[in-house]
Amino acid sequence: MTDTVAGPSLAAGPGIAEDDWAAAVAAVRGLAPDARVQLVCHVNPDGDALGSMLGFGLGLRALGVRELRASFPGPFDVPGPFAGMPGLELLVPEAEAYAEPDLLLVFDVAAESRMGPLAARLAGPGTCVVLDHHATNTGFGDVRLVDPFAAATSVVAVELLDRLGVPLDREIAECLYIALTTDTGSFRFDMTTPRVHELAARLLATGLRPGDISRRVFDTRPFGATKLFADALARAELEPGAVGGLGLVWTYATLDDLARHGQQPYVLDALIDPVRCVAEADVSVVVKQTGPEEWAVSLRSKGAVDVSAVAMALGGGGHRLAAGFTGHGTPDDVMATVRAQLDQRSVT
Ligand code: 5GP
Ligand code: MN
Repeated sequence: MTDTVAGPSLAAGPGIAEDDWAAAVAAVRGLAPDARVQLVCHVNPDGDALGSMLGFGLGLRALGVRELRASFPGPFDVPGPFAGMPGLELLVPEAEAYAEPDLLLVFDVAAESRMGPLAARLAGPGTCVVLDHHATNTGFGDVRLVDPFAAATSVVAVELLDRLGVPLDREIAECLYIALTTDTGSFRFDMTTPRVHELAARLLATGLRPGDISRRVFDTRPFGATKLFADALARAELEPGAVGGLGLVWTYATLDDLARHGQQPYVLDALIDPVRCVAEADVSVVVKQTGPEEWAVSLRSKGAVDVSAVAMALGGGGHRLAAGFTGHGTPDDVMATVRAQLDQRSVT
């Protein structure tokens, strides 16, 4: 059986109107020499958020933009897997982001709420260009480069860099490669089109060391995180009859788990991976505590369920097979809301 990819996905940006590309190019080309440019990505940044933002930022620097800052909401901690990413020198804490940038560029942000307090910058006098690939994008910003068929926001970013005539040097390429491999699951997910491999080839041709990058980004984790995963996986529950018989597997991790093992919250981003491999369940869920009664919830489906619809109904968003939202109460309370949504849409 051949796995075909839905939609006109061989080219980046089929969903982006030529007028929007032109407006984005004009917004960059029209910058005065002393213009302040602020780049923002989503809270709890992943490889695509940071990689597309910093890769594009390095491209702007190459174009001669001097007043350039990149930021994300929340604690100013770069997750360990991205500690070696080029362009980190562009990052400033949320409080040091330009109050009224002339140009605001937003990366991988599906909804304004994902920008935390930085969302206030959207109301400023400057132009806001949004680069994203979430089908659930809420449509904020002045110029919207949102392509739900793009495998990663970095695919949109590279198209804009190309249109601006910025050559991809090795540092820019490394940021974009991290972004691309993160969001495609290292070229395993359905969005991995020929175009994605062509882009990967372009990036590799700059002299990247993919083995080093993968080891740093995917295959390195503190021993404490391994023990924490062991605890969380030990209490995973399988509900084979859930979701109309498609099966549900889930677990949770608390702030106490993190403290006990001396770990930062970002280590839990990878916990969904062993959980989603469970053969007996189409849908997998990891409930991660972020506050006294607050949880970041990761949802995945193997294909039968549109988990972005579940997440959207619960105030979040994402992609058809990978989505998330913020839950409240206990893990059981959160799972009750998830089950109620899943029961309504077990067949899509
Ligand atoms: P993850 O489970 O890896 O944190 O997120 C999976 C996908 O869902 C990502 O594309 C992410 O951007 C999106 N996502 C996760 N949490 C939220 C949320 O609270 N709101 C929205 N709109 N999207 C989310
Ligand atoms: Mn992304």
